[in-house]
Parts: sequence; C-alpha cells; structure tokens
Amino acid sequence: MPHDDPDHPHSLLPPDPALRVKALETILTQKGLIDPAALDVIIDTYQHRIGPKNGAQVVARAWSDPAFRAALLDDATAAVSEMGFFGRQGEHIVAVENTPEVHNMVVCTLCSCYPWPLLGVPPAWYKSDAYRARAVREPRKLLSEFGVTLSEGTSVRVWDSTAEVRYLVVPMRPEGTEGLSPEALAELVSRDAMIGTGVAVAP
Ligand code: FE
Repeated sequence: MPHDDPDHPHSLLPPDPALRVKALETILTQKGLIDPAALDVIIDTYQHRIGPKNGAQVVARAWSDPAFRAALLDDATAAVSEMGFFGRQGEHIVAVENTPEVHNMVVCTLCSCYPWPLLGVPPAWYKSDAYRARAVREPRKLLSEFGVTLSEGTSVRVWDSTAEVRYLVVPMRPEGTEGLSPEALAELVSRDAMIGTGVAVAP
C-alpha cells in the first residue's frame, strides 16, 4: 500500500486537516500552481457572498410566499433543492422559524456541521470550542455578545447539527418591510441571522 510507505509523500503530511491543507497550499504555491491571493478570494466568496446569499433568498421567499413557507417548514431539503440549492453538506436540511416566543440558534457540538449550499462555509467562530460549548451552556449570554438581546418572553431553542441534519434558521421578518420585493428582503438576511446568532433588521 503506497500510503503505508514512509517515503510516500502522503506520509509526510501532518494528520490534522488544517495542517494538511496548509502544507498542500504551501507546496502548490511554491510550484507556482496556485496564487494564495486568488485562494483567499475564493474562500471569501464562499464565506460571504455565494453561500449566505442562497440562504437569504430562501428566507426572503418564505417571508413573501406562504405556500413556499409551508413547504420549507415541512420539508426544507425538497423546498430548497427546487431553488437549485443542494449538494454536499446540504442533505437533510431542516428549517426552524423564529417567532416572538421562540428564538432558534444552531450549533454543532461535535464538530462544525453546517448547511453549505445555503450558507457557504462556516465562519471560524462556529467551529470554535467556545461557541460549541457556550451555545448549549449559556445561549442567552452568548447571544448578547453577538448583539442579540431577546425579551424575557422569548425562549431560546438550540439545535445541534449533525452530519444527518443541518438547520436553517428563518429569522422573523422585520417590521416595516411590507412593500419590499423578495430581492430587497434578501438583503436584510445576514448569515448570522440564519445561524440564529443574529436577527434580520429593517433597512
Ligand atoms: Fe459537525
């Protein structure tokens, strides 16, 4: 088996995935095969542009279209694949809707499971030990550090993502947005609002 051979290049890579990626990036850069600046752009695109924009379109449609909202809450995987959002890390999506009574918040206590086709790659804090532990232990305090202050009457429900189920939070539609188009509404939906560490705000 080539992978068991100590002289095989694979054996020289460190076992930790982040270190392996760094090692690969270094080798590819040294060989002139990739430009690290271009890589940063690609990562940024998935983190801030493509990813969360997909989820925001889904939320805006749920706010605007009662039949779609019902379909999304019933079977999110099917509802979002009809919009073209599916693929790796997007199997078995469950949408959870915020109400004045319940604020939903998502964590993966085990690692960093996340609905990639809707939100892109998870932010670093989502993967941190601190977030994973505190989301369960002291969600309200954690939320306040994200700038989310909930009223006394709102309870927090924390959903633990797994490789089997990934959650999308449907934030509450902000007041005063009645006349807005789905496109304009989507602009109000941040990545954090769909993780539950933020809320949607009116323009
Ligand atoms: Fe995970």
